[in-house]
Amino acid sequence: MEKTVLAVSGLDPTGGAGLIADVSFMRGEKVHTLGIPTAITVQTGRKVIMVKGVPKVYLRESLAALRKTFRISGVKIGMLPSQGIARELYRFLRTEETEHVVLDPVFFSSYGYRLCPESVFAVLKKLIPLSSLVTPNGQELRQLAAIFGIKSHRKAALGRTLSLLADTPILLTGGQGKEKGTDQLFRGDQMETFPGKPVRGKNFHGSGCALSSLILVHLVKGHSLTESIRISKGKLESLFQSGFRSLDGRWFLGGR
Ligand code: PLP
Repeated sequence: MEKTVLAVSGLDPTGGAGLIADVSFMRGEKVHTLGIPTAITVQTGRKVIMVKGVPKVYLRESLAALRKTFRISGVKIGMLPSQGIARELYRFLRTEETEHVVLDPVFFSSYGYRLCPESVFAVLKKLIPLSSLVTPNGQELRQLAAIFGIKSHRKAALGRTLSLLADTPILLTGGQGKEKGTDQLFRGDQMETFPGKPVRGKNFHGSGCALSSLILVHLVKGHSLTESIRISKGKLESLFQSGFRSLDGRWFLGGR
């Protein structure tokens, strides 16, 4: 059977982030891709207007049905809008023999709308050790570290300690200032840097979703973690280059 991956994420009708983006990027890499929405949303390019989590029984039944239909080699986790939804997913992953899980923490939209209530944090603490990779930006890393009771002002120390404590690789994405475009991978006490070309002045919608989906597919295809990140960052750069601007002035990735 063809390799099969699953995206469990929020439905952003603009297609820039969330489920539509995840599925299109993964399908683009020629793997069979399943998708379950965790929430429906109303959004423009810049603004999240409304979020409604799906009933947890919907997630439970969908996972059960897909499990009977496919051997799922990888799962990409995006927006988790409620503790009930997060718990259902945790119960599934705890018992499913999925080779790879990439968890992209989604706490706030770029323009500040809260997409994940604090009640989910306790479940994230259990989901992170089940993951092959977690892909926070700087703000999300601080939040994840706080969940694990880690205190430091230095991002590198947070990344290293979180990786050690959770026994999970952590990719800190989207460095700032001179480091913009550079990502750092913390794996135990090892750190690896992935330079990238900064895209200045363009805040792309859903670039985190694209990167985590691409990394998941490459892991499932058998590439190492380092290779998967390197290849995915290269692909993301060409998606930036073919990007376009929406009517309300947000940048969307091109090439789909
Ligand atoms: N909506 C969904 C479903 C998302 O998953 C995300 C981010 O991952 C967003 C909206 C916010 O995207 P951005 O921060 O790029 O605006």
